[in-house]
Amino acid sequence: MHWSQAIAKKIIAERGARRHVVATGITPSGDIHIGNLREIIIGDAVRNALVDMGVDAKLIYIADTFDPLRRRYPFLPQEYEQHVGKPLSEIPDPEGCHSSYAEHFLVPFFESLDALDIRIEVLRADVMYKSGLYVGVIKEALLQRDNLAKILEEITGRSLPDDWSPFSPLCDVCGRLSSTIVTGYDIANHEVYYECECGNKGMTSMSGGGKLTWRVDWAARWKLLGVTVEPFGKDHAAPGGSYDTGKRIAQEIYSYRAPYPIPFEHILLKFKEGDKARVTAMSSSRGTNIPIREILEVVPPEILKHLIWRVRPDRHIEFDPSTALLHIIDEYEREIGGIGKGVAAEIPFRHFLTLVQVARGDFNELLAVIRRSGYEIPEDAEELDAIRNKAIYAQNWLQRYAPSELKFELQISVPEEGLKQLSELQKRALRMLAEAIPDGNLGAREWHDKIYEVASAVDIEPRLVFQAVYIALLNKPSGPRAGWLLASLDVEFLRERFEVAAGGNRHHL
Ligand SMILES: [Zn+2]
Ligand SMILES: [Zn+2]
Repeated sequence: MHWSQAIAKKIIAERGARRHVVATGITPSGDIHIGNLREIIIGDAVRNALVDMGVDAKLIYIADTFDPLRRRYPFLPQEYEQHVGKPLSEIPDPEGCHSSYAEHFLVPFFESLDALDIRIEVLRADVMYKSGLYVGVIKEALLQRDNLAKILEEITGRSLPDDWSPFSPLCDVCGRLSSTIVTGYDIANHEVYYECECGNKGMTSMSGGGKLTWRVDWAARWKLLGVTVEPFGKDHAAPGGSYDTGKRIAQEIYSYRAPYPIPFEHILLKFKEGDKARVTAMSSSRGTNIPIREILEVVPPEILKHLIWRVRPDRHIEFDPSTALLHIIDEYEREIGGIGKGVAAEIPFRHFLTLVQVARGDFNELLAVIRRSGYEIPEDAEELDAIRNKAIYAQNWLQRYAPSELKFELQISVPEEGLKQLSELQKRALRMLAEAIPDGNLGAREWHDKIYEVASAVDIEPRLVFQAVYIALLNKPSGPRAGWLLASLDVEFLRERFEVAAGGNRHHL
């Protein structure tokens, strides 16, 4: 049973087969990366499992657009210092291409979700606050300020300042909500009085004129949106963490049962720094993350989804975009299906890595290489598009993440220097290989067998024949699977290259 089905069963057993609302959400303060994606993929998988069990369930995504900018992140220009403390929805786009700071990071994220075929209902916090949706829960929070403070102090073990309020008013002079304190309120008129560090004293509306502090906001929105299930990072689940406070606030202040929690482990990024492998938590602000859209340039969406989907939420994922990612692609193509459609799907991704390098970036040559490898390509626009797309993934992966042993450059002219390393026996093997080439093409398997035959005839280790082939073609002692490589090349080219590498024309012997 997949973990999502096990979780769905538990939800139904503990909470009933009622209508379920699975909530996810993040603060769009920087590039939304694949660490953030885990939450959505867990929510999506559980929602789908519930629906498969006959339960009405939907997945919502709350974009915390009304959260303040906490600090000026390294990717922000100096002048963004003035925006620290303002809601993300009210700050201009740092690159000027979207309607706000928040949208700049949300829009590409939503495009990625479309590509991943994840259907969500998006709710923006600033829109919900401005619409007045929160007025009721804000009033309740202000009236129960002391009870809220007591819950927070009891659970976190930290004491709150006397001027603490569950509501942060938005200053109408400096635009910040991180620098104000509540001095009074008028429940009937939905107004809150405040003083700001900037010197302003004013009055603001409960409809968009400020927001609940994070821990109170979380519990309040469960009730407002009817949330019954929520996946969240394990830090929130720690004792004294926000889920513990949320649970009591929901129960005692809002008379609402906290959602069924699905805490999940982090996705760690594994990368090489010099010779050392490093593993680090993904973080937008520290720059140790890979934005989702960047990964989607290297692997198709189904792979990205699969690499998160295959791991139980309570296990961490080490994301290594290099060789480990390639293994996951291999596994996916073996067990679930080839990436792309038609011929593209038939050719394993790993083989594409060889084909695109043999074709040296030329699409027509790539088609010729594929045909030589024994595939028939139907004259069909969709087939060609699928090949082009898979080739782009292969090229991007090679360029950004491939280890050097998987990269090669087909030597168009004879690699004279490299050939000097060949022993007499290796040369003899290449000569025999040249003589054994038939006029028609050989398949990968046949090439592979030929190399073994030649090795045994010359009486050297097959490894040394492979090495000679790689040197003759790639000017390096190792390379991709030799059968595939040879099958993708023109036989005339191979015959001539092996003869030259063997030390000239066979008639001279
Ligand atoms: Zn933008
Ligand atoms: Zn102010």
